[in-house]
Amino acid sequence: MRCPFCAHEDSQVKDSRPTEDGASIRRRRQCEDCGARFTTFERVQLRELTVVKSENRREPFDRMKLERSVSTALRKRPVAQERIDKLLSSIQRQLETSGESEVAASTIGEMVMNGLKALDTVAYIRFASVYKDFREAKDFEDFAVTVGEAARE
Ligand SMILES: [Zn+2]
Repeated sequence: MRCPFCAHEDSQVKDSRPTEDGASIRRRRQCEDCGARFTTFERVQLRELTVVKSENRREPFDRMKLERSVSTALRKRPVAQERIDKLLSSIQRQLETSGESEVAASTIGEMVMNGLKALDTVAYIRFASVYKDFREAKDFEDFAVTVGEAARE
């Protein structure tokens, strides 16, 4: 691993241990040249996933973005963060194991909708009412904004 401080090509692993949730490995490293210490995280990535949006625009799948959409729909709803994380992980896992390298934004939208249905009716309705109008035309970001507005009404 290249040193982020002096760009030297090699660093030594000083310590290596799983993070609390066991989903990644945390490594303490030290640069062999300048001696700087830094940390890296290693986690499983089953495949690179590209989201196909309206007008054929493409972007890498971004879990944070998905999380923002879901959180917006769930704003002020009594749903534990743990259950939200579970939903997000389940969607991500389905996408990663689907065998496809590209997925339509609308497919993700359907998955979110189904997940929310089981989680919280109000969030589901918020999400679904916006989603039906926007289906093919808009992307998640427009979507999140609109759901946010609906939530404030
Ligand atoms: Zn260095």
